[in-house]
Amino acid sequence: MKLVFATHNQNKVKEVQALLPPTISLLSLSDIGCNQEIPETGETLEENAILKADFVTHKFGYPCFADDTGLLVNALDGAPGVYSARYAGEQRNSEDNMNKLLSELASKKDRTARFETVIALNLNNQQHIFKGIVEGEITTEKKGKKGFGYDPIFKPDAYVETFAELPLEVKNKISHRGRAIHQLLTYLKNYGNDLGN
Ligand code: IMP
Repeated sequence: MKLVFATHNQNKVKEVQALLPPTISLLSLSDIGCNQEIPETGETLEENAILKADFVTHKFGYPCFADDTGLLVNALDGAPGVYSARYAGEQRNSEDNMNKLLSELASKKDRTARFETVIALNLNNQQHIFKGIVEGEITTEKKGKKGFGYDPIFKPDAYVETFAELPLEVKNKISHRGRAIHQLLTYLKNYGNDLGN
């Protein structure tokens, strides 16, 4: 079975493909001739993941999964949330986003936050939603050089390091994305094994 991962990033596709049974072959958006950015106009992470998965399934006819991620800060009523990538503007710059968040939180006592990843899977005329969450808090300053996005200011619960200080293997095990992908893989493995029977 061919399954599309709604991303242009071949590395992400390879990583997930390596974890799937050989009965499922993953395709990227470029592999199916979809060279445009799919508009993310939803107001929630779930809406955006569904928008992207439905776009591919309806326009190209493939089973597909798509993800969307956001950082939700409690003292800011869940902001930046679905707008995490462009919190400080359309230039989508991580340094600007982190600086804006640190200044918004400067006078707040509650710095608790969580990352959420939602994956929407369209398979066999059914839609499945998988969610991964990691709870933590926003530090008062940037720490660490690894990772991307808000990693230098996000400290997961039960750790003293930020995501940008933790080894990637550790981050992947406990992260929002790691947890959502794990649920997706468990589902697809069972499905893929059934296809092989
Ligand atoms: P996307 O939906 O994966 O593109 O994520 C949206 C935005 O959330 C990204 O542009 C980053 O700013 C932020 N983000 C997503 N995942 C992570 C992460 O693992 N660490 C830090 N920031 C992240």
